[in-house]
Amino acid sequence: MSLEARLEPILEQVQKPARYIGGELNSVVKDPSRVSVRYALCFPDLYEIGMSHLGMKILYSIKNKREDIWCERVFAPAADMEAKMREHQIPLYGLESLEPIAGFDFIGFSLQYELCYTTVLNMLDLAGLPVRSKDRKSLAPIVMAGGPCACNPEPLADFVDLFVLGEGEEVNLELIDLYKQAKEEHWSKEEYLRRASHIPGVYVPSLYQVTYREDGTVREIVPLDGAPARVTKRIIQNLDRVEFPESFVVPFIDIVHDRSMLEVQRGCIRGCRFCQAGFIYRPIRDKRPETLNRDALNLSRTSGYDEVSLTSLSTSDYLGLEELLDQMLPWTEEQQINIALPSLRIDNCSEKLMAQIAKVRKSGLTFAPEAGTQRLRDAINKNLTEEEILSTCRAAFRSGYTAVKLYFMIGLPTETMEDVAGIADLAQKVVDTFYRMPEKPKGKGVQVTVSVSCFVPKPFTPFEFEPQDTPEQLREKQKHLLAHVRSRKISVKYHDSDTSVLEAVLARGDRRLCPVLESAWRAGSRLDGWGEHFSMERWNQAFAQHGLDPAFYAHRRRDYGEVVPWSHLDYGVSRRFLIAENKKAWKSAVTPNCRERCSGCGAAALYSDGEVKPPCKK
Ligand code: SF4
Repeated sequence: MSLEARLEPILEQVQKPARYIGGELNSVVKDPSRVSVRYALCFPDLYEIGMSHLGMKILYSIKNKREDIWCERVFAPAADMEAKMREHQIPLYGLESLEPIAGFDFIGFSLQYELCYTTVLNMLDLAGLPVRSKDRKSLAPIVMAGGPCACNPEPLADFVDLFVLGEGEEVNLELIDLYKQAKEEHWSKEEYLRRASHIPGVYVPSLYQVTYREDGTVREIVPLDGAPARVTKRIIQNLDRVEFPESFVVPFIDIVHDRSMLEVQRGCIRGCRFCQAGFIYRPIRDKRPETLNRDALNLSRTSGYDEVSLTSLSTSDYLGLEELLDQMLPWTEEQQINIALPSLRIDNCSEKLMAQIAKVRKSGLTFAPEAGTQRLRDAINKNLTEEEILSTCRAAFRSGYTAVKLYFMIGLPTETMEDVAGIADLAQKVVDTFYRMPEKPKGKGVQVTVSVSCFVPKPFTPFEFEPQDTPEQLREKQKHLLAHVRSRKISVKYHDSDTSVLEAVLARGDRRLCPVLESAWRAGSRLDGWGEHFSMERWNQAFAQHGLDPAFYAHRRRDYGEVVPWSHLDYGVSRRFLIAENKKAWKSAVTPNCRERCSGCGAAALYSDGEVKPPCKK
């Protein structure tokens, strides 16, 4: 019986069966006999999350544009579907062909957050494959992974054959071409991986030996078998010349971001010291407004969405924004398409820009001051004053907004209880600003939502050296903040501190965590990012079983000279720069953004000569 026929009775018994059937508008179906490479593009989370991710859409489109490659989507099944699949021995399959992915040439995971790691293991197991790389002997399938977490992939080193560092558009195709040669010439998997390690941006963990000191820190990372001593991430030099999807797969069910998405720029000029994305995606590269307007028109023609989102790490820093909106507003207004700007920075939204976006979007406005006091905002290099925050809110209120969402973090390095109370004070000032405005919208109140997450120190940031607060300290700070909220117009939302600790452990972990990860998964951990599935107790048992202490990874300060598990990986920004930035944080000294003045972080070296000139290369 075909897998499709075996699936049918099961789908009647699970929630949201449309997650598991494929066949959506714009999904790509090819004749398997006419392609030479089958690629399973896996997102280790539920369909609704993975289908919302722009990187998945880009890689899906780039691969499927090639006639010799068939790329299919694979998402993690929810608990009810997983139970049915295991009960009926249905292996993990690609959504386009409904064929088992164990028979594909590549299985590629997108690693967007650390809490997906157990789900990676679970998906390999559901596919019917051994989870450990060394136990998968044949050339196919090659298990690879990329995305931001690949900047310290060590906790997954025993499971994944190779990692792609940086941007995947070009290197994915280079890996596939090498694989075609490997198939033709009957290479072993080891031979393929050895040769792949010489493609810039490709990291093969089995080709590096890691030794440790008695105090538990890394002593040395030694390349083996001719592998490069340092692996440097890949970047796309010119975003206007790289392929962007002409269509998106349109889901049958609601997903988190069900809209067209444009990527207006990559990288960020800011350098907020806690923000990993702000450092690992450097340098900044803009797309031209004409390219973006063309992409938006394509997507609206093929996908029928009534909303288009202009995404990037800080969209209001995109120099072409007003020009782009000038090009897009006439046709989007005519077609009643909403333009969404999800990552606005508070200080540089001009009133013209506010007026432009208010034409199409009247829902809540979100800003991220991150810290409640000026001293702490300076320490984290969030170059933002209270007056800038309040005047932007005033401008937003004048344009008709009545709901503001403010993102903050607690547990930031150098933070005191005064800084924590400052979060409530700042939210109160936003409320007061609304009520003091003579021209405030009549009959309407204001709603300020304060969303508070816990700081997680991440590799390749100036705070990679810092200890994370313990859960007890974080809970104390949460209580302190609540005690200072005085208005019912302010609501406070928290993130769970236990998951933040696990995130900190995995983010800066080494490969000794691989057995811990496997034990936690075997004990039932998967979909750890979902509160209903997460169990810190299960993880603590796994740490104890392997004699490792999570506090060593999460709550320990690192010396500037320590060899870290990612010391052999290079994301452009130099360690010297990160150390200098860390020292400046402790003096609450700020660093200007890349457009004001280049601070020589090192990322400019990622450009090859003769290419586009970013702020780094005037
Ligand atoms: S090299 Fe200069 S301009 Fe380029 S990302 Fe680094 S600090 Fe910014």
